[in-house]
Amino acid sequence: MKNKSTIANIILSTFLIFSFVISLFINPSFSINAQAANKNVVVIIDPGHGGTGDRNLGAQYNGLSEKDLTLQLANVLKAELEKYEGITVYQTRTTDVIMSLEDRAKFAQNVNADFVFSIHFNASAEHLFYGSEVWTSTFGSYYQKGYNFGQIVSAEWNGLGLYQKGVKTRIGSSGNDYYGIIRQCVARNMPCVILEHAYVDQGNDVSLIKTSGFVSKLAQADATAIAKYYGLKSKTTGADYSGFTYKSVKKPGGKLYQDESGPDQCDIKVLGYDVASGNVLVELTAVDKQSPVIYFSYSYDGGNHFCPLQMWDRTKPTQSFNVKVPSGTVNPTIVVKAYNNYEKDSTSAPVAVNASFVY
Ligand SMILES: [Zn+2]
Repeated sequence: MKNKSTIANIILSTFLIFSFVISLFINPSFSINAQAANKNVVVIIDPGHGGTGDRNLGAQYNGLSEKDLTLQLANVLKAELEKYEGITVYQTRTTDVIMSLEDRAKFAQNVNADFVFSIHFNASAEHLFYGSEVWTSTFGSYYQKGYNFGQIVSAEWNGLGLYQKGVKTRIGSSGNDYYGIIRQCVARNMPCVILEHAYVDQGNDVSLIKTSGFVSKLAQADATAIAKYYGLKSKTTGADYSGFTYKSVKKPGGKLYQDESGPDQCDIKVLGYDVASGNVLVELTAVDKQSPVIYFSYSYDGGNHFCPLQMWDRTKPTQSFNVKVPSGTVNPTIVVKAYNNYEKDSTSAPVAVNASFVY
């Protein structure tokens, strides 16, 4: 009997594995029921940066310090996660100290971590961008796990009013993952995501971050996402994500490279010009085959000055909007830029507007 059931089990598990592999090829994504694993889940919360010296501070703008925000968020996140059953939570650092990326990954490996969540806040050289983004490994199941978690946490952040830039990969000159913490974790067989919650150098995000209690809300959002990903329950709060399901992305066949170029198409048409109000109705078609177009910006002075980045509805390639030209502007000329989620832009041809466009 024992042998029979073993054989039956082997046949069944072979069939299940086979069906799973087939489903990877047939479906671009497939549903996963986030049932809590039989074993206890071990997660690492890694507050980015820390210590003194310019290299260790992270982004510093508007009175906000990245190394402090990451630790503040991580402390709340650990406490929130510990309200759930079936999970053990470790933090790479709990004080303001320098810790190398390699030591963070080694620490995670020593406690047999299932997943490393590296907590960060963002800034850009241009100080133009806003919103949240997730970085994951470019490789196989590490990509898949990071992407799937990224989709779940992105939905939580969206609920807090943050614009969602998406989940991305980046490969360095060595051909491995560009970001050190992801590279060090993958080298030790652990999935890792970098969670860039919001920008500390851009107005929209700064005002959110400075809202009282917002960093704690971010930590709760992260905790909810991790609980959903693992299908956890909490007797303390009554939360039960054991029935939570999500769409899984396919494992990539090869490396997924970053997008190094702007949108393939950025064309404008002027549909009308209301001289009295100064409103120019502009239609923009913006398309990028590699990565989604997520922002656009316009100029009425031929491209000398651009407005702050506007949100682009990624469900439609063509959209129209009004550009307000201040009265007294000589020879108004519309130019539009479209940006993808790698912050690469393309610029439209200029279109001079005059009274012949009146509608
Ligand atoms: Zn950082």
